[in-house]
Order: sequence, then C-alpha cells, then structure tokens
Amino acid sequence: MTLSGIWGIITKIIDVCIVWYLVYFLLKNLKNNIKMVLIFKGIIIIIVLKLLSNILNLVTLGLLLEYVIMWGPLALIIIFQPEIRTVLEQLGRSQLLGRHKALTGDEREKITNEIMDAIEYLRKNRFGALIAIERNVSLQEYIAPATKIYADISSAIIESIFYPNSALHDGGVIIQGTRLTCAGCVFKTSMDNKLNKSLGTRHRAALGLAEESDAIVLIVSEETGRISIAMDGAMNYNLSLEEFKRQLYDALSPKTEIFYAADDGGEGNE
Ligand code: ATP
Ligand code: MG
Repeated sequence: MTLSGIWGIITKIIDVCIVWYLVYFLLKNLKNNIKMVLIFKGIIIIIVLKLLSNILNLVTLGLLLEYVIMWGPLALIIIFQPEIRTVLEQLGRSQLLGRHKALTGDEREKITNEIMDAIEYLRKNRFGALIAIERNVSLQEYIAPATKIYADISSAIIESIFYPNSALHDGGVIIQGTRLTCAGCVFKTSMDNKLNKSLGTRHRAALGLAEESDAIVLIVSEETGRISIAMDGAMNYNLSLEEFKRQLYDALSPKTEIFYAADDGGEGNE
C-alpha cells in the first residue's frame, strides 16, 4: 500500500471519529434537555412530512414546509442561544475531550453556592457528611456498588441525604459535573500515620480517596462540627467557612482556564 493510501485511511478514521464524537456529544446533551428533545422531535416530524409531501405530491403542504425549513435554522439559533453559548464555551476549553464536560463559570458558581449552603446547615446541626467531587480520575469503582441518585446538585438533596438516620446518611456521596451521582459510597481508608489520632474513619476515608485520586473530598465532622477538605493527598483540617469556600471554588476551576478568568469574577483566584 502506498503512503498516500495509508494517509487516506487515517484521515477517514479521523473523519469518522470526529463525526462520532459530535453525534455522541449532541445526544448526551440532548437527553438532559426537554426543550431540545421537543425540537428534535419537531425536526423529525417536519422531515417525515416533507418526504410525504414529495411522495404524494402535496404541493401546498410542500410549499409551507419549504418556508419552515428555510427559516427554521434561524428560529433554532434564536431559541437555543443560551445552549449554543454554553456549548461553544465548553468547546473552547481543553477539558471537553475528558470524560466530563468542564463546568461553565455559572455552573461552578451555582454548585459552590449549593454545596456551601448544605455545608453550613450540616455544620450548624452537627450532622456528619462526606462529599467526594470527581475530577479527572474516575471514581467508577465506588459508584458501581453505591445507591444511584443522578440528581441535579442542590443544598436540599445533600442535607436530606446526611440527615441522621436517613437511609443513605452512612458513607459518602459522589458528585460528577453538575450531578450528584450516588450515595452510601464506602471509600478505602488512609493508612497515613501523620493524620491526627483523634480523627476517625470518616476523615481517614476522605484522605484515602484524596491519596488515590484527584477528587475533592469535603468532610463535616459529626463530633465537632468542623469542616475540612481532603485533596491532592493532603487533609486541610478545620477550615473557616470562607477558606472552605475559597478552596472549593478554586479546586473546581479548570486547570487550563486562561481565557475565562476575567469573566468569572472568582474570589481569591491567583
Ligand atoms: P466524625 O468527626 O464525624 O465523628 P470521624 O472521622 O471521627 O468523623 P467516625 O466517627 O468513625 O469518623 O465516623 C463514622 C462515619 O463515617 C460512618 O458512620 C460513615 O458514615 C462514615 N465512614 C466511615 N468509614 C467510611 C468509609 N470507608 N467510606 C465512607 N464513609 C465512611
Ligand atoms: Mg468520630
């Protein structure tokens, strides 16, 4: 086979991969968006009607559909302006090809606020909690045996999970992107001798996860009401609410966020 023949095959494979990824990306976003699903159904109905009008020679219907098809894309751009903005924003970030989409500035802000509301509530009431936020390293091994939830993150859902004696209060929860994926996760505990002896299994489990992955692990102590963050193999113990929020917000920022730092208005960003 000649060099140009091999090159031709490679470009075809690249071509198919890109199309596959675009279709996958579209469908993945489509299934979570009721507005998009409805429009998608509408487009399919229009295509079917157009085919029918061609086959059965329905001139008036065909003419009407011509107009819809001609002006439809413009209408779609107007209707989907917010979604298009979000998708383009994500495309500009290098983490698009990772397993999870990068958070937009608005999403990061919202998630941080929801989590902080829950942390404040849990701390005040001395309800123990363990919240792991997945970054690049997959936490699938802990998700698989846990109780699946797949809910949009809200302070209410976090607070109800960790309410004492709730069915799912034991163990940790895992957050992926904008979703709370599961509860009742049991993590491997850390063997680190340097960890304060008075800290029990919840803190050891948090540190264990922060040692073996790049997850951000939030802990509320039931005994003391202290709040801590374990990440990058270290335990940042007994933080103030402000420091906790700053560390969480910073840790949620994409590492490659160069062009977006200005429009985020994030507090404490270097
Ligand atoms: P606290 O300050 O809240 O008392 P602690 O570090 O002293 O925390 P324990 O008192 O041993 O820890 O807390 C026990 C709780 O921690 C368990 O009820 C369970 O919910 C959670 N936990 C313990 N081990 C794990 C683990 N391996 N993975 C996830 N959660 C765990
Ligand atoms: Mg304890």
